[in-house]
Amino acid sequence: MQKKTIQDMNKDQLEGKRVLVRVDFNVPLNEKLEITDDTRIKAALPTIQYLTSHQAKVVLMSHLGRPKGKVVEKLRLNTVAERLGKLLKKEIIKLNDCIGEEVENVVLKSKNGEIILLENLRFHPEEEKNDDQFAKKLAKLADLFVNDAFGTAHRAHASTVGVARILPSRAGFLMAKEIEVLSDLLENPDRPFVVLLGGAKVSGKIDVVQNLLNIADKILIAGGMSYTCYAALGYKVSNLLLEDYDLEVIKKMLTKAEQQGNKILLPVDLEVAQEASEKSESKVVEVKDVPKDVIGVDLGDKSLAMFEEEIKKAKTVFWNGPVGIFEIKKYAKGTNRIAKLLADMQGKAVTIVGGGDSIAALENAGLAEKMTHISTGGGASLEFLSGKQLPGIEVLP
Ligand code: AMP
Repeated sequence: MQKKTIQDMNKDQLEGKRVLVRVDFNVPLNEKLEITDDTRIKAALPTIQYLTSHQAKVVLMSHLGRPKGKVVEKLRLNTVAERLGKLLKKEIIKLNDCIGEEVENVVLKSKNGEIILLENLRFHPEEEKNDDQFAKKLAKLADLFVNDAFGTAHRAHASTVGVARILPSRAGFLMAKEIEVLSDLLENPDRPFVVLLGGAKVSGKIDVVQNLLNIADKILIAGGMSYTCYAALGYKVSNLLLEDYDLEVIKKMLTKAEQQGNKILLPVDLEVAQEASEKSESKVVEVKDVPKDVIGVDLGDKSLAMFEEEIKKAKTVFWNGPVGIFEIKKYAKGTNRIAKLLADMQGKAVTIVGGGDSIAALENAGLAEKMTHISTGGGASLEFLSGKQLPGIEVLP
């Protein structure tokens, strides 16, 4: 998938131009509204620095959290502006809205190389509705649009799709990198290509498995989706189920995988507990003997060893989702062992990780640097791998 990027643009094309950049500054905040992880801000720096060093007037826009179309004071982008300023050692002009006359005036008067950060786009309900008029007001601020927000590329919003339909548009460096890495996974992975999917949610991940059945060599499934698979196979694990899903669809998927030489591997044993807490007693059980009224908290030892063996053989690994409730230390063993194994494969295999929780597990263990690529968009990377066209990417030339 070839997209035009800002790299195609030289100083003559950028100097003095107002460039509207969609970034993904949707960073996690704690109760004190401090940023707990600034990975997403750091990931946008190469694009911002390229534009400022080519003397463009940079106008950044992002969403933060879910303000649902209203001004929510604690979701203003002020702390993000502060952090960005610190990282770039540069003043950031932070505005209190993202559209309107006042905003237009500040942008018009800005100097080459300056950086303006607009207010949270989702304070306006029109953003998520991809409203034409709202997109026009955003587009009015600039000569050129750059999309560097891979994390929201699966959403057709005014700031991702609407603006790109109006202004000449380019992909930023982060967007281009994500497209390159994920396209390579789908089109040309080094083999064996092993996929590990965990986490609680099922929806979205089934589509990924359906698509990757034609591409990957092995798909290892843990967590919520594995319980749904057991249910489809007729095991009595309904108490483990975290989400409703059409079991017939899953049964067909599992049958297809079996015909392809057991392409999908499900856990054979599980660690279960009464509840998700440090105090709760846990034990390892075979999948066919899961007692009533327990929840799955981690992979059992046999399953973990089986998954590790497959991963060790791989030349490419894609991982999304923890294999247990890793936030509780007692149940983080499986997830940490997977993280450590991938880190040990540095230089020997391509390792690509997506999804906030798997990334958090790697960060906690200080192993994130050892991955080949960490995708900044969990949901977006899953949609990409399910073979769907992402509207924010499709609209770019
Ligand atoms: P997801 O957003 O689908 O990737 O889910 C990640 C979350 O699911 C994490 O907070 C995990 O603690 C939680 N989770 C709950 N039960 C499990 C389980 N049995 N295996 C893996 N993750 C789980």
